[in-house]
Amino acid sequence: MTTQTRAAAPTAGSTIDFTTNLVESTLDPSDAVYDQEIPAGEPWLHELRQGQRLRILDLMGNQAVDTLFYNALDPAERYSAVDTVRAQGSLYLTTGSRLLSNDGNPMATIVADTCGRHDTLGGACAAESNQVRYALEKRPMHNCRDNYLIALAESSYHMGKRDLTSNINFFMNVPVTPEGRLTFEDGISDAGKYVELRAEMDLIVLVSNCPQLNNPCNAYNPTPVRMLIWD
Ligand SMILES: [Zn+2]
Repeated sequence: MTTQTRAAAPTAGSTIDFTTNLVESTLDPSDAVYDQEIPAGEPWLHELRQGQRLRILDLMGNQAVDTLFYNALDPAERYSAVDTVRAQGSLYLTTGSRLLSNDGNPMATIVADTCGRHDTLGGACAAESNQVRYALEKRPMHNCRDNYLIALAESSYHMGKRDLTSNINFFMNVPVTPEGRLTFEDGISDAGKYVELRAEMDLIVLVSNCPQLNNPCNAYNPTPVRMLIWD
C-alpha cells in the first residue's frame, strides 16, 4: 500500500503508520481561493464547504495552532478527540487521520502533512490553566480559550463556553511517556511545514493561533501562520 493510498482511504479502526506519514501536497498556492495570515496570538473563524481543502502553514516554525471543528449545518455536532483517537488506534494525528465528530461522522481528513504529527490530547490554554500551571499573576495573559470566546462572540453563531471541547493542536508536540504521562515539549515543526485537510462536511473552523508564553508549545515566541483554501 502506498502512502498516498493510505492517505486517501483510511478506514475507521485502521492504524496510522507514523513512519511513512510525511506527504506533500500537489496544490499550488496561486490557485487558492483564500490566502490569509493569522497574526501571532490571534483567533480565526472561517467556514469550509465539503470538499474544500485547508492548508495551515507554519510560517516561522514551532507555532501551535489550536483548532476546533463544527458541523456548519448543526454545530451541536463537533470534533471529538476521543472518537478520533479510538477509531484510528493512535494518539497522534497525521496524514490519513480522519477527524471524527461526536456522532462518529468524518468531519475532515488530513491529506498532507510535512510536520509528521499533531497533538489532540493537550487541550487549549486558558486563564485558569495558566494560573494553575504557572502562577496566579498569569491570569490576565492572552490565551487560546479567550481567543475562541472572542471569535465566537463576534460571530453570528450564538456559540460560547459550552461549545468549547477538546481541540486539536496542530504542530504541537505533546509526547506520551512510557509511564503514560503527557509532557509539553519543544516543537518538531519548522518554518514552512504545513498540514492540509479535506473537509468531509460543511464546517465551521475555529482557530486560536496560540499566544502562550509560559511553555515551549510555540518556543515562547508566538508567530503568524498562513491559511490557504482550495475548492
Ligand atoms: Zn494556547
